[in-house]
Amino acid sequence: MKLIFLGPPGAGKGTLAVKAVEILNVPQISTGSIFRSAIAAQSPLGLKVKAIIDAGKLVDDETTIELVKERLTQDDVKNGFILDGFPRTIPQAQALETFSTIDKVINFDIPDSGVLERLGGRRVCRMCGFNFHAIFNKPSKEDVCDHCGGEVYIRDDDKPEAVQKRLEVYREQTAPLIDFYREKGLLLDIDASPMVDEIAVSFKKALGL
Ligand code: ADP
Ligand code: ZN
Repeated sequence: MKLIFLGPPGAGKGTLAVKAVEILNVPQISTGSIFRSAIAAQSPLGLKVKAIIDAGKLVDDETTIELVKERLTQDDVKNGFILDGFPRTIPQAQALETFSTIDKVINFDIPDSGVLERLGGRRVCRMCGFNFHAIFNKPSKEDVCDHCGGEVYIRDDDKPEAVQKRLEVYREQTAPLIDFYREKGLLLDIDASPMVDEIAVSFKKALGL
């Protein structure tokens, strides 16, 4: 199954993706995680995108499209994939149509208040990328990942100034994808406000699993 996870920053796409990967047995492809790994490795890609991402802006379409196009040539996506964080603009969606088909687009529906609450408390493992929350889902040992022992930290783009910018960018550039995919009959809306276990149930129901 080839899926796109669409929704504002902090909607819980990455958190559900961890469960969806187990349910569907397909890999998650998170452009944000790929960029963050590149930044950590100080690769040419990482050096190019660091300032853009920290400011809450979007990496340019050309770079992002090339990255995903290349990723989708790898062997592990033969049975499908979950695209988490791509496409984020209409040109990205149009480009995607030239190199892959998509079965369904999961639209994570959540009000801005929910987004601010989640991003404000988000803590991320530097090593495996697992998402924690300072109030709702704390690591059992402070600042240490329960899954891999990595350091749990606050992403630079989760700082308040960048969060406002990301919401603005979402509304202007990404939200138009909702109608784009609805018109193609691919959109499945799920209520992203509850806790992740409940969202996983709606997710399975929406896909008829
Ligand atoms: P979130 O968890 O808030 O949805 P991501 O981890 O998906 O954020 O992405 C973090 C940042 O990486 C984005 O704010 C953006 O700067 C960059 N990025 C990720 N995916 C894309 C994309 N498809 N196009 C452009 N920039 C992207
Ligand atoms: Zn970890």
